[in-house]
Amino acid sequence: MSEKTTGRLARRDFMIATVGAPAALVAGTAAAQKAAVSAGSGSGTIYTGDTIGGKKVVSALDVNDLEAGRKHLLYFQGVEMPTGQHWYVSVTVARGAKPGKRVVLTSGVHGDEMSSIHTVQTVMNRLDPAQMSGTVTAVTDVSRPALESMQRRWPNQGRGIDLIDMNREWPGNENGLTAPSRHAGLLFNRLLRPNADAAIDFHTGTTGFDVAAFNIGETGRPEVKAMLDLYPVGQIFDMPKHAYPTVLHNAFIDAGIPAFTPEIGAARVLNPGMIELFVEGTMNVLKHHGIVAGPMGRTAKDMTVFVGNSGFPILATEGGIVEHLVKLDDRVEPGQKVAVQRNSFGEVVAEYASAVAGVVMGQRSDAMSEPGNPLVMILFNRPTPDGVEIYPE
Ligand SMILES: [Zn+2]
Repeated sequence: MSEKTTGRLARRDFMIATVGAPAALVAGTAAAQKAAVSAGSGSGTIYTGDTIGGKKVVSALDVNDLEAGRKHLLYFQGVEMPTGQHWYVSVTVARGAKPGKRVVLTSGVHGDEMSSIHTVQTVMNRLDPAQMSGTVTAVTDVSRPALESMQRRWPNQGRGIDLIDMNREWPGNENGLTAPSRHAGLLFNRLLRPNADAAIDFHTGTTGFDVAAFNIGETGRPEVKAMLDLYPVGQIFDMPKHAYPTVLHNAFIDAGIPAFTPEIGAARVLNPGMIELFVEGTMNVLKHHGIVAGPMGRTAKDMTVFVGNSGFPILATEGGIVEHLVKLDDRVEPGQKVAVQRNSFGEVVAEYASAVAGVVMGQRSDAMSEPGNPLVMILFNRPTPDGVEIYPE
C-alpha cells in the first residue's frame, strides 16, 4: 500500500470517528460514505494528497481556506469509475484580496454545450483577484464522461450503457444508485453549495436543436430577477422552480441560493457574438454583488426584452426534411406558418403553424426529423401558467 493510499484511508477513518459512526464500519461502505457527507459539507477543504498535472486534488472545498488575492487551479475528486479511478473536474477559484460575496459559475452539466464553457472561461480570465472583494468559483466540466465524447448525457455503466441526463439528477445523492447521481451529490455537497451566495449554471441548446440567447429563471424572486435584468439579451424565460425540478439551478434555489440558467445558442460550436453578451452580463452580476468594481456594461435596459412564462413546442407529425420559415428571435402570431416538411419525393407532407403569439426561442437544426421531435419552440405568455415545462435546456 502506498503512502498516498494510507493517508487517504487515515483521513476517512478520522472523518468517520468525528461524526461518531460505529467503529465496525469500514471505509468504502455506503454507511461510511453517508457519514462523510456531513463532514464534507462546509467543514473545510480536504486535500487528497494527489496532484494531477501539477494541480492539487481536493475532495471538499471551502474557498475561504485558499490564499486571498490570487487564482487557484484545482481538481475536485468526483465519483469513481469502474476501474476504481475517479472522474476529476476542473475548479478555478478567483479569491479576492478583500472579503465579499461568493459566486459559483458552472458549465458542462451537458457534454455538448461548448459556448457555455467558453463563457465561464472568459469571465474567469478577465478577473483580477488583487482588485476583487469576494470570490468567484468556476467548474467548467461538471459531467466529465459526457464531455469526453461531446455528447449531452453521461454514459452510465449500470445495465450495459444507459445515457443519463445529469440535469435531471440535482441535488444528487452521494449514496445514489447511479454514478451520475453520486457525482452530482459529491459536487453539490462538497464543492458548489458550500461556496455559493449566488450561482449561475450555463447551458446552450442541444445537439440538433439551436436556441436563441436567453436566460431561464424565476422573476418572482427579487434576487434572481436582479441578476436576469443585468444581461443584454432579448429573451427571459420566467420559469417557476416547481415547473422544473432536478435541474442544477433549482437545486441551488432549494438550498436558499439565488440561481438561474443562461442559454447560449447552438450546441457543439462556439458562438462568439452570444458569448460576449453573456460575459458582459455575468461581469455585471459580479459588479452587482460588489465583487468587481467598475461601471455596468449593457443590460436588459438596452434591449427589447421579451419575457415569457411558457414554451410552446411545435412537434413534427411526420418524417421528412424540415424547412424553417422563421428565424430565432422572430416574433410570431397565432396561425403564422413557421415550417414545412417534405418527404423523399419532395412532396409537402406537413405544414406547421404557431398557435400562440410569442418569439422564436429554439429551432431544430438537424434538417431531418421523425415524428415527435420538437421543430420549433416559441416563448409566450400563458395567462395561468401551470404544469411542468418540457424544454431541452
Ligand atoms: Zn444543457
